[in-house]
Amino acid sequence: MQQLIEGHRRFLSEVFPGRRSHFHLLAESQAPEFLFITCSDSRIVPDMILGTEPGDLFITRNAGNVVPVAGNDVDGVTATIEYAVEVLKVKHAILCGHSDCGAMKAELDRRALQNLPKARRWLEHVEAAYSHRQPLNPADGDGAELAALIRGNVVAQMLNLRAEPSVARAVVEGRLSVHGWYYDILTGRIERYDEQERRFLPLIA
Ligand SMILES: [Zn+2]
Repeated sequence: MQQLIEGHRRFLSEVFPGRRSHFHLLAESQAPEFLFITCSDSRIVPDMILGTEPGDLFITRNAGNVVPVAGNDVDGVTATIEYAVEVLKVKHAILCGHSDCGAMKAELDRRALQNLPKARRWLEHVEAAYSHRQPLNPADGDGAELAALIRGNVVAQMLNLRAEPSVARAVVEGRLSVHGWYYDILTGRIERYDEQERRFLPLIA
């Protein structure tokens, strides 16, 4: 805990004073352009890898970067998406998966979920990943099979995102774009899913 208290002390003394006017503006409202949906994994630090600032990204995170299938059930993910699209009017919705994802590893080895009844049920949402599994990429080394399934999950969850009524409406009206990304922790690089070519390509060529 001391680590966090010291970190907050440094934030107050070294970071906050230089950005006082920015926080002053943010104190009254937010107008993020990006909805960012990603995994809870501690190794994904969106502001660090994207160079974004407070106020830029509206974020929802969960194990496996899941977007539950649109239906009658209400959940925290789709409620957050609806708010981002209808109220905040974000212009881009980004679904970002990542290498070495524990949720997807557990999906590959269901035994890991034996004593986790809630996680087991939650991960039923990622089963669609198998239908969208991507080709093996030798660059992923030993983790190639896992990475192919993780990329498949990005595609699957992206389709769920597109099917979410608020998202579908905004896309038709031309005020929202949907993106699927794969973040590789080892190299730091992001790949984007090209929906025309139906494959992942480097975000930065
Ligand atoms: Zn993960």
